[in-house]
Amino acid sequence: MPEEGPHNEAIESIIEGKKMEAYAEHRTKEMHVCALCGAIGYRKLPMRLVGSKWICIDCLRTLKETMDGLDQWEAEIQLEREMSKKIDETLRT
Ligand SMILES: [Zn+2]
Repeated sequence: MPEEGPHNEAIESIIEGKKMEAYAEHRTKEMHVCALCGAIGYRKLPMRLVGSKWICIDCLRTLKETMDGLDQWEAEIQLEREMSKKIDETLRT
């Protein structure tokens, strides 16, 4: 039958479409959005699950740098607190 050809092609294209949909869905499951910068990561941009949030390598690097400087920062905060405490005491007396 000559009509069978195009008919089958139509079905095949529907099947192909469904396959693509399933594939896209599969991909979406593996895809994550960085909780900090909103970047979409999929293989090209490695991401780590931190708690319940995905965070990309760039943000994790920034976080690490922040953590590395945390002691210094805390010391500065402590110093500021002590200074303002001293100022308060001076004002009270
Ligand atoms: Zn990020």
